[in-house]
Amino acid sequence: MNFDTIIIGGGMAGLSCALRCLEAGLKTAVIASGQSALHFSSGSIDVLAKTPSGKHVINPMDSLETFSKEYPSHPYAALGKETVERAINWYKTTLSAIGVPLTSQKDGLNHYRLTPLGTMKSTWLSQPFVHQFPMDLEKNKTQKMVLITIDGFRDFQPKLAQDNLKQITQLSDLEIATASISLSAFNDIQRNHCELRSIDISRLLSKRANRQELAYALQQHANPGDLVVLPSIFGNGTGLSYLREIEQLTKLTLCEVPTMPPSLLGIRLEESMKHAFIELGGTMLNGDHVVQGEFSYVDKSDPEHSHYRLNRLFTKNHGDFPLQAKQFVLATGSFFSQGLKANVDSMIEPIFGLDIAQSDKRTDWYSHDFFSTQSHPFLSMGIKTTANFQAIKSGHVIDNLYCAGAILSGYNPILEGSGSGVAISSGFHAAESIIEQLQCSDSLQNNNTKAEVAL
Ligand SMILES: Cc1cc2nc3c(=O)[nH]c(=O)nc-3n(C[C@H](O)[C@H](O)[C@H](O)COP(=O)(O)OP(=O)(O)OC[C@H]3O[C@@H](n4cnc5c(N)ncnc54)[C@H](O)[C@@H]3O)c2cc1C
Repeated sequence: MNFDTIIIGGGMAGLSCALRCLEAGLKTAVIASGQSALHFSSGSIDVLAKTPSGKHVINPMDSLETFSKEYPSHPYAALGKETVERAINWYKTTLSAIGVPLTSQKDGLNHYRLTPLGTMKSTWLSQPFVHQFPMDLEKNKTQKMVLITIDGFRDFQPKLAQDNLKQITQLSDLEIATASISLSAFNDIQRNHCELRSIDISRLLSKRANRQELAYALQQHANPGDLVVLPSIFGNGTGLSYLREIEQLTKLTLCEVPTMPPSLLGIRLEESMKHAFIELGGTMLNGDHVVQGEFSYVDKSDPEHSHYRLNRLFTKNHGDFPLQAKQFVLATGSFFSQGLKANVDSMIEPIFGLDIAQSDKRTDWYSHDFFSTQSHPFLSMGIKTTANFQAIKSGHVIDNLYCAGAILSGYNPILEGSGSGVAISSGFHAAESIIEQLQCSDSLQNNNTKAEVAL
């Protein structure tokens, strides 16, 4: 099979890159072996909430230039503010066009979203039913919050969230109530608590009668004007329309909070992107695993300009039948998704054996104090790339293999709250570089053909 671009990895970075490539008319394939980090994510887009030294960031876009000077090995420094801003705006427009509008605060500041534990987490873009609290919580306008769960559902505990919310001094005027509701449709699955996960509830709520029963139950515990906080229990494609329907029926203001995995808010983003990719004509190879690549060495007499070229990929499912492309993107994530692996005495990139950016000494991988406020160094480790995010193998650049997302080194997505921001902007950047290169080589080919015809 022959493509313009093959992207390895179906998470935020790979799918953002894939959608941008398709938009530019490239014949694109995505190979994704399993679940991405989106299944564990809040579904809000973190751009930058904290610096590595722990300083809170209030306005991520305005901070990017100073931040890049202070942390020159961070991916944002190589991408530059203009690319990050363009990428995130493009992502917002694209997601809105495919049915998941994402919004930020009008003043460009981060906002707080509520976590299932009743704490506040700073983020940049959120989905329509994720309530955006101001960074200055004293300015919170919500007067009463009702935290509601479904009887037997263990992944959201309103009383625990209530206790934690009460610890936030700026919210001391906020009235907080809790409730647990029982719905007849859930009686059967409640017998086995292991089965009552958000995804099971979402299946039952795809029936209109069950949604109506839920709407009625919510009205027994809350009044218009209250902020009704529910665990995210509405499915992927239709979830937002069901939430709108219940808001219309009840006149209540609803707020979704992400739950323990599976996180439907994160899955909603992944499924929407995958669906759009297939609808636009992309080739999605779900459940296949890239095992190795075949390279050629382009010897340019001058060793500095000699490089590798990746010609084809071999996967578990396709066995001896390779997949070919002009350009490739590696977006296989970090240790979490096995884009990186740690052996007893070394860290490896398992598909191509790419160069790793950090120390090989195991003792440098972690802090001795497990609960230290400083992050463990391995969380910022990744592969070595050029400033343009091309991969490096045995010291040589692979000029048609770009890298994006959590496999990159020099940042800690969780500590900084920069995970989706880096994934989207590096995926977008890889796509833009590929589009430019392919357009260049097409116009070269056209010129050569014209020249041949003229001859
Ligand atoms: C638990 C958790 C929660 C998070 N929550 C948030 C949040 O709320 N907001 C936020 O902004 N960020 C969050 N982040 C960070 C952010 O989600 C990640 O940094 C970002 O999504 C990474 O995307 P990625 O595409 O680089 O990698 P991943 O999402 O890890 O995707 C990698 C993909 O590559 C595939 N893959 C791996 N190896 C192969 C192979 N050999 N062949 C084929 N496919 C392969 C995997 O199956 C997967 O599809 C969270 C991260 C984690 C770990």
